[in-house]
Amino acid sequence: MGARSLEDGSCWWCGQLADSKEHRFKASDLRWMFKDSPSLWLDAGERPARIKGPGAKAVLFPEVLCRDCNSERSQPFDEAYSVFFRYICADTERFRHPTEYSMEKIYPFDVQGPGNLARYAMKNFACRIASRGFEVPQQVIEFMNGAEGT
Ligand SMILES: [Zn+2]
Repeated sequence: MGARSLEDGSCWWCGQLADSKEHRFKASDLRWMFKDSPSLWLDAGERPARIKGPGAKAVLFPEVLCRDCNSERSQPFDEAYSVFFRYICADTERFRHPTEYSMEKIYPFDVQGPGNLARYAMKNFACRIASRGFEVPQQVIEFMNGAEGT
């Protein structure tokens, strides 16, 4: 199956009905940021938008994924991102100047961790592509399905 677009209402990843809205930013990160603030400002368009909660429309992609792909199927990728995020938050100074990072230090017991982190980012890029009405390239879908990146 080839790449898909928003117009046909199908999940860009698997082709099922797209009935799930992916967060543009990880929902748990948003909940963490809302812990100490009743609202946040998102400056990602023509004008900054005030968002009042982690479910605000401004922080969600339109429905370009199905529930399966947006939950169980991408769960390992979300977890890899969470591990990465916790590593950053544990000591933000170690990310101040280096130009490269050791994935073995971030994922000492998970050889799939770096690839899953890359797939977390790729899922976000693909949702952005699909939400703008463009077709997600087949290579992206193959990468999400486990093909090695080059
Ligand atoms: Zn799907």
